[in-house]
Amino acid sequence: MIKAVIFDLDDTLYDYKALERAAFECVGGLVLGVSVEQYEEAFMRARQATKDMLGETATSHSRMLYFQKTLEYLDIRPLYLALEMYETYWGFFLDNMLLYPGARELLEALHEKYIRVGVCTDLLAHIQHRKLRRLGMMDDVDCMVTSEEAGVEKPSPGIFQLCLEKLRIPAEEVCFIGDNLERDVKGAMAAGLQAVWFHPERKDCAQEETAQDDIDVVSDYEELYQLLAGRIEGGL
Ligand SMILES: [Mg+2]
Repeated sequence: MIKAVIFDLDDTLYDYKALERAAFECVGGLVLGVSVEQYEEAFMRARQATKDMLGETATSHSRMLYFQKTLEYLDIRPLYLALEMYETYWGFFLDNMLLYPGARELLEALHEKYIRVGVCTDLLAHIQHRKLRRLGMMDDVDCMVTSEEAGVEKPSPGIFQLCLEKLRIPAEEVCFIGDNLERDVKGAMAAGLQAVWFHPERKDCAQEETAQDDIDVVSDYEELYQLLAGRIEGGL
């Protein structure tokens, strides 16, 4: 039986990938005098160079650094535009965020059963706080851990340990929900937590691609609700 649920944030509580693409295209309109292809190519190079330089750290995901470097590659002074690109990106992104269908109902059902809720995410704290506010989750989340705070990213055990310390609940009574098999699911299991793989594209994949021994997988919040109901004293 479980007493707490920890959610990954991006692509687990809402559709990150679709929004990232739309926000990226929205920012492209600000960069004048270069083609869409040049902008995209410079951005991809900039993102990779930032990740190569910073490794597995929260800052390696910083859009500010990606946009600054994109402009440097395009021979445009970063101080003219990087901050505007950053604010346009996050403005569009935050304005268009929506919880996955069924997530609100699950959060309310967990609350009614006094199940504690955490969020554990690989990114910078200030932007993840904004996302949770825009998703209307201030009253739903008991604690958040970001990789910026933990100093390590998933699947390092340290980030999961910090969540457990904040929740003050033993690992075996906590269930982690995440979309990334290696980082979220296997990482949480290695730290002693229960875990569920949230995999919205599962129905489009061949059976063998998602068949993982001893790993629970769901493709939407309805399935997740049913699965968690069976692990909570008295159901949901
Ligand atoms: Mg994720």
